[in-house]
Amino acid sequence: MSSQFGIDIWGDDNFIIKNDTININYKSQPSLLAITDSIRSKGYKGPLLLRFPHLIKKQISTLYSEFNRAIDEFAYQGKFQAVFPLKVNQFPNFVNSLVDVSKEFNYGLEAGSKAELIIAITHTPLGSPITVNGFKDKEMICLCFIAANMGHNITITIEGLGELETILAVNDEFNKGVTNHITPKIGLRFRLHSTGIGIWAKSGGYTSKFGLTSTELLEAYEMLKEHALLEKLWMVHFHIGSQMGDIAPLKKALREAGNIFADLKKRGASSLNAINIGGGLAVEYSQYASQKNVNYSLKEFSNDVVFLMKEIAKSKEITEPDIFTESGRFIASSHSVLIAPVLELFSQEYHEKSLRLKEKNPPLIEELFDLFNSINTSNAREYLHDSLDHMESILTLFDLGYVDLEDRSNTEILVNLIVKKAIILLQGENIGELHGIQDRIQERYLVNFSAFQSLPDFWGLGQNFPIMPIHRLDTNPTNPASLWDITCDSDGEIPFDRKHPLYLHDIDVNTEEYFLAFFLTGAYQEVLGMNHNLFTHPTEVVVDFDAKGKFIIKDLIESQNLMDVLDDMDYDKNFLDKKLKYMLEESKSLSSPQKRELLGKLYLYLSENSYLKTIQASNDM
Ligand SMILES: *Cc1c(COP(=O)(O)O)cnc(C)c1O
Repeated sequence: MSSQFGIDIWGDDNFIIKNDTININYKSQPSLLAITDSIRSKGYKGPLLLRFPHLIKKQISTLYSEFNRAIDEFAYQGKFQAVFPLKVNQFPNFVNSLVDVSKEFNYGLEAGSKAELIIAITHTPLGSPITVNGFKDKEMICLCFIAANMGHNITITIEGLGELETILAVNDEFNKGVTNHITPKIGLRFRLHSTGIGIWAKSGGYTSKFGLTSTELLEAYEMLKEHALLEKLWMVHFHIGSQMGDIAPLKKALREAGNIFADLKKRGASSLNAINIGGGLAVEYSQYASQKNVNYSLKEFSNDVVFLMKEIAKSKEITEPDIFTESGRFIASSHSVLIAPVLELFSQEYHEKSLRLKEKNPPLIEELFDLFNSINTSNAREYLHDSLDHMESILTLFDLGYVDLEDRSNTEILVNLIVKKAIILLQGENIGELHGIQDRIQERYLVNFSAFQSLPDFWGLGQNFPIMPIHRLDTNPTNPASLWDITCDSDGEIPFDRKHPLYLHDIDVNTEEYFLAFFLTGAYQEVLGMNHNLFTHPTEVVVDFDAKGKFIIKDLIESQNLMDVLDDMDYDKNFLDKKLKYMLEESKSLSSPQKRELLGKLYLYLSENSYLKTIQASNDM
C-alpha cells in the first residue's frame, strides 16, 4: 500500500493529506484531527461519528448531473428523477441534512416500512417523489392514500398480486360516495430473469423475495384495467441488488426492463411513463488497486442506462420513459467518518527497553544483538535471514533445556526488532518473504469502538472499509497492524491481512494520542449496527461550514448514557436506581461520608456512555 493509505482509490477527492494530517478537501480544508480535538475538548470522549452534509450534496448533484449530461448527449426525451431509499440510513441528522442539501433537485425518499413511510411523508418536500416498496398491509396502503391526499407525489410499488387486491379494496373504500379523493400512483415491480452478482445479489432474480413474474404482471395489468386504475400505472420497477461491482448484469436487466415497459405500454398502459432501475450503484471501498470493487464509472453507468432505454424505445416505437433511480449506498456512504482513539498496543513488550541481557549471554544471542545494532540497507536481507535462523536454533535449545526463559525472551525481542528494522530498510523493494514474517511481528491495536455497532458489514459480510490514522502522516507507519475493538467478542477483530496489509505507527499511548478513522461508513452500517455488549451508537455530530469557510459543529447527539441504554432494554430505571442506592446504603464496611462520596461517583458513571474512558493511568481517551 502506498503511504497514502490508498486515498486515491477510495477517497474520491473528498480528503487530502496536508503535512501530517488528513484534511477535508472543502472550504477551509480543516483536518479531521482539528475537528476531533474541538469535540473532545468539550468533554466528549470515545468514538465519534462525523457527518459531512457537503458530501451528501456532492453525491446527489453528481448523480443528477451525470444523468442529465447523458440525457443531453443522447438527446433523450425522458427526464431523470431519483429518491433516497431510507433503509440505507434513517438517522435524523442524516435525513435532515439530505433533505436540506437536495432542495434544488426535486429529490425524494423511498420507504419500505410504515415507520419509514412516516419519515418520508413528513420530510419529503411536497411535489418531490415518494416511492413505497416492500411488503405492505392494508394500513400501510391506507397511509399511502392519506399521503396522496396531503398532496404528496407518491407511488405505491406493487410487489405481489395480494397487495394489488388490497390496494383495490382500499381504493374502493376511499372512493365510496365521494369523488374528490386522490389515488396514489402505481408502480409494478417485476422479477428479473437476469440476476446481480456479489454478496448482495439476492434482491434481483427469479428467487427474489420481491416482484411479479411475467404471468403475474399480465394479471396485474388486467386487474388494474378492470378496476379503471390503469391510468394510475405509471412506473415499472426492478432492483438488481446492492453494491453491483460489475456493470454487465445491469445491462441485461435494463434490456429486460425496457422490453417489459414497452410491452405493457403497447398493451394499453398509456400513463406508463417511468422506469425505475432501483439501486445498486457501487462504492469503491478498497485501499488497494489490486482489490478494486467496482469496474465502471457513474459516467459509463448513466450512458448505458440512457442509451439502452433510447434504443428499446426506438425499436418498439414508444416514447422514451423517465428514468428513476433509488441508489442509496452511492449517496450515503461517503458522508460519515468514524473516528476512534487507540487505547493500547498489545506487543509493546517487544521494546529494546524490555531486554534482560545478562553479563554473559549465549553466543547466538550476542550475535543477534550485533545484528540488531549493525543492520543497514545493504545487509538487511542477509541479517534478516540470519536472525530468523538463530531464533529457530535458540527455540530448539530452549526445548532441550539449554537456555532459560530470559534468553528466550531476549531472542523474541531482538528478532522482532530486527524484522521491524528490516521492513523499514527494505521498503520499496517488493520482497515476498517480508509479507510472510509480518504476521509474526504484527502489533495489536486496541481501539475504542465496537465493530458490531459501527461496522456490522465487516462482521457479517467481510466487507472492508478504508482505515487510516488521521495524523502523523509525515512519517511512514511500519507496524503491521491488527485492530481489536472493545467488545468481549473475538469476532470484533480486524486481522492483519498479508495481501492487503494495514500499517500503523509505533506509538506510546501513555504519552500521545493516536486516532484512527474508518471511512465510507454512511450507508447501512448505522442502522444495522447492534448493541453487542451494550455498546451503543457513538456520539455523532454534523460538520458544516460557515460563510468564511470555517467548520462548525452542529446537532451533537451524545452516545446514550448507561441508564438510558438499560431503559431501552426495558429494564426499570427506577428499580435500578433504587437498588444501587439501597445496596450502597446498606454497606457494612463504609462510613456515611464514604457512602455519599461513592454515591456521587456512581451517579456520574451512570450519566456517561459505555465506551471506555481510558485504560492508562495518565490520559483520558
Ligand atoms: C435497498 C434497495 C435500494 C438501495 O440499494 P443501494 O445498493 O443502497 O443503492 C434501492 N431500491 C430497493 C428496492 C432496495 O431494496
